[in-house]
Amino acid sequence: MQTSPSEVSRTGDSKSFSGRELWLLAGSQDMYGAETLAQVESQWREVATALDAVEAIPARIVARQVMTGAEEILRVCQAANASEECVGLIVWMHTFSPARMWIAGLSALRKPLLHLHTQFNQQLPWSEIDMDFMNLNQSAHGDREFAYMATRLGLRRKTVVGHWRDPRTAERIGTWCRAACGWHEAQHLRVARFGDNMRNVAVTEGDKVEAQIRLGITVDGFGIGDLADAVAEAPAADIQQILEQYDNDYVVAPELAPGGERRASLFDAAQIEAGLRRFLTGGSYGAFTDTFEDLHGIKQLPGVAVQRLMADGYGFGAEGDWKTAALLRVVKVMAGGLPGGTSFMEDYTYDLSPGDERVLGSHMLEVCPSIAAGQPSCEIHQLSIGGREDPVRLVFNAAPGPAVLVSMLDLGDRFRLVANEVELEPVEQGLPKLPVARAVWRPRPDFFTATEAWLAAGGPHHSVLTTALDLEAISDFANIAGIELFAIDGCSQLPQLLNELRWNHGYSKSECR
Ligand code: MN
Repeated sequence: MQTSPSEVSRTGDSKSFSGRELWLLAGSQDMYGAETLAQVESQWREVATALDAVEAIPARIVARQVMTGAEEILRVCQAANASEECVGLIVWMHTFSPARMWIAGLSALRKPLLHLHTQFNQQLPWSEIDMDFMNLNQSAHGDREFAYMATRLGLRRKTVVGHWRDPRTAERIGTWCRAACGWHEAQHLRVARFGDNMRNVAVTEGDKVEAQIRLGITVDGFGIGDLADAVAEAPAADIQQILEQYDNDYVVAPELAPGGERRASLFDAAQIEAGLRRFLTGGSYGAFTDTFEDLHGIKQLPGVAVQRLMADGYGFGAEGDWKTAALLRVVKVMAGGLPGGTSFMEDYTYDLSPGDERVLGSHMLEVCPSIAAGQPSCEIHQLSIGGREDPVRLVFNAAPGPAVLVSMLDLGDRFRLVANEVELEPVEQGLPKLPVARAVWRPRPDFFTATEAWLAAGGPHHSVLTTALDLEAISDFANIAGIELFAIDGCSQLPQLLNELRWNHGYSKSECR
């Protein structure tokens, strides 16, 4: 069952992913006796209840079981694998829990794993501590026993260290929870690809079979005629409703407004949107691509339609870029309920003024208004490539603030994610002759380091830009997926980055993955 694209834009609910669960397991053993186990049970339930109440953790925390034996650990891991609601396991060794009892369960586990290294008490009761207290509160060494086994089994996991009432602990669990929900989405994600790739372009291509094996995503190709039929058959009521939304939600250019001389072009755009929506909904698609080179039967390159579908949570990639379309959908799901936005993006061109180097990012039309500063305007202008009628598009500037760019490439033998922390800046100059939505940013740590590293990594020109998530969320997702992440942040230095690429190459060639 797929998260419907509209689900991710919902806000105001204390749990953005109310249908999703994280199962909290406490590790223990029978050796301590019933009284100690009862205390473990009640304290573990208190921790689960407290974490469940934290808004920063966007899924339900379910206190599943205190584990004391290998059979029950295996059973709960198998149940997690089979559960549609469970997106991951959180484990904490409240007492010592001899780790051989975890081998069968952890070996069977196919859901994301977080090792929470906490303890029930925050302060050490120096004057009262006795052996009973020690028996009850042993995570300092019990979690080391567990971590040894997880490492020996080669389990990818996130380790979070901190007291369970510390907001920072909950925040880091919450970030991982978002990555786990993104992973869950990828397992069900269907991408519709209208037409094929932009001819001769390399980086937007890739191994769709390997992507399905690695990430779960399904990519289905369609002739553009299938979409043209859906557009032609779009119900008049749908088109009318979309036209009203254009008129109400945006500053509509006079020529497109009711009675304007180009109103018919706005109608055509609304009809394209109505057809696209029906097609995607009908096939349970959460992401899609198109290409300006293949629009036979479609009057305009879809502009405003793509922009509004992205705002509703759909992933999109231009020129057949199904990897970016899928990644955009996954990142949008991960960002569900958070302030900020997430968009398809392309490095457009630079301002190389010495000491003030910046990137102008945009695309021909397709930038998501979730990153807009202020109300977008709805305009129509010529598009010099593609050979279709002038397309309607939303024009706006991206809101300033910290953001992350993330992109996925296929190296032939593996996928790599490349990410860069950037700072979006106010767009101070008017761009009267470039009427597209745009963003201006400064890469971190600086333009030269970030750009040289991005190019050395083979980083694509298409990317996902998000102001809702930080690099930790992307890193958590890469770790869950088992995909290399090449991250360029505010502390990165070029020699180390280049070494990292060499080491990653060596690692990928080794047997011990
Ligand atoms: Mn492009």
